[in-house]
Amino acid sequence: MSHPLELLILETVQLGGSLVFLSDQAPSTLPVWTGSLQKHFAAEIPFVVRRAKDLTNKRFATRPEDLVLFFKEQESLLPQMESLLSGQRALLGTDAARLTDSWDFIFSDMTMELWETLLQNLRRQWDQASVLQGLPGEHQTPCLFLDRDNVVVKDVPYNKDPKAVVLMPGIAELINRAHARGWWVALVTNQSGLGRGRITWDEYQSVHQQMLRLLAEQKAWIDDCEWSAFISESGTQRGRLLAGMRKPRNGMFLKINDTLKVNMSRSVMVGDSASDLKAAYAAGVKSLYLLASDQTAKQEESLKGYRALHPDFRYITVQSLEEISL
Ligand SMILES: [Mg+2]
Repeated sequence: MSHPLELLILETVQLGGSLVFLSDQAPSTLPVWTGSLQKHFAAEIPFVVRRAKDLTNKRFATRPEDLVLFFKEQESLLPQMESLLSGQRALLGTDAARLTDSWDFIFSDMTMELWETLLQNLRRQWDQASVLQGLPGEHQTPCLFLDRDNVVVKDVPYNKDPKAVVLMPGIAELINRAHARGWWVALVTNQSGLGRGRITWDEYQSVHQQMLRLLAEQKAWIDDCEWSAFISESGTQRGRLLAGMRKPRNGMFLKINDTLKVNMSRSVMVGDSASDLKAAYAAGVKSLYLLASDQTAKQEESLKGYRALHPDFRYITVQSLEEISL
């Protein structure tokens, strides 16, 4: 019979998380515990040892997928760490009667010897471990993915003025059609102006809120939004981060899929540039619409080369949003 901590470690790794140990007030045997992990798994079970200070000064952050392991000697660390931790917290080798809201799991029986046995067992099961299942019904619902500039609103380069926000003709109707069918609607927009420092977050948000206000007047809403500030020639730190989120890379689509549990192959992308369609295609979206603008000839030219590399890549150029079928 497996120890419940085995399953928890397995699930942590399947979710893409790490085991996190803290060095503050750790027992002197901590290197033996982590040494066992390395001995059995080398780098297959990712783990880190951090100081509480690394968390307080933001040099390091835990993620919801992580499993933070405390020893009984470190119980008193939790109150000061509580607001800094986003992973699950397990307490090893201490009395379960102390269970509070602060701990997700308590393994009062955990000793170094049991840890060693547990890792040996885990090693044996490792290669047969099945894929983690989501909730029943996930990934059934398609999503209408929309670029922002020249699709939802008229393009005003680096717009920071809410008064300059004008909806594109037919966008509210298109969004309402998608929602009437029970679909999700999501916005995926490259906003290099944020990364270049040309617009501030406040300005970006005020434009975004005005767009939503105008849509709301027509009873239309957007379920999820992603914006990428990345720009390779950025002079700002923020602009250099997360290149995979900027279209034509597919990061924003995958993030939305992670949240909304989308049926990607039945989803629709509407964009006015080649990179919109390439990004959606790379995320598994099959129905791709290029909304005509004065840039269309150039965009279609760029898509010719892409099509040569991806023979099943198809898109339809439309003159208006009414022509889009869901
Ligand atoms: Mg655009």
